[in-house]
Amino acid sequence: MKDALANMATTEVLQESLYAELSILYQRLENELTQLSPGCNKCGTCCNFSAFDHVLYASSIEVGYITQYVEVPDFNIADNVCPFLKDNQCSIRGFRTLGCRIFYCNPHYKEIMCELYEKYHFMIKELSKKYDYQWEYLPFLRQLAELKPKSSLL
Ligand code: SF4
Ligand code: SF4
Repeated sequence: MKDALANMATTEVLQESLYAELSILYQRLENELTQLSPGCNKCGTCCNFSAFDHVLYASSIEVGYITQYVEVPDFNIADNVCPFLKDNQCSIRGFRTLGCRIFYCNPHYKEIMCELYEKYHFMIKELSKKYDYQWEYLPFLRQLAELKPKSSLL
């Protein structure tokens, strides 16, 4: 029993350390994006995936980071709208995924954003190896639905 508790405590410490490193990566990305200044009026349209004909993918680390620190509202996966979109605004900006941060509808930035995505995606994957965190890369809503307690899903 003592060993089990010690293992749980170790896992929690490792996860906190992993998420702290992820947060630093996100901050580095934000600094790069500020330099590029691609422009976004925060209309929230791209967070309605059907309206934008877009599938947001995310890794298990990114989704784990969200579910660790943020309460996931009830949502219906068939609606294909991010449950964190409130009044056309992202309600979890500090925790949003790499894909959320990199997506800009301005086509002039498509190529550079693809490069940035690959760069940070690689670094997040390296984190999963460093912390021996199970790596999955799937549509965001699907992962969110899997991690959310079943009783609160519609
Ligand atoms: S990237 Fe474009 S669609 Fe998405 S919130 Fe910004 S302006 Fe709106
Ligand atoms: S987490 Fe925020 S930015 Fe990402 S899809 Fe949801 S509402 Fe949009």
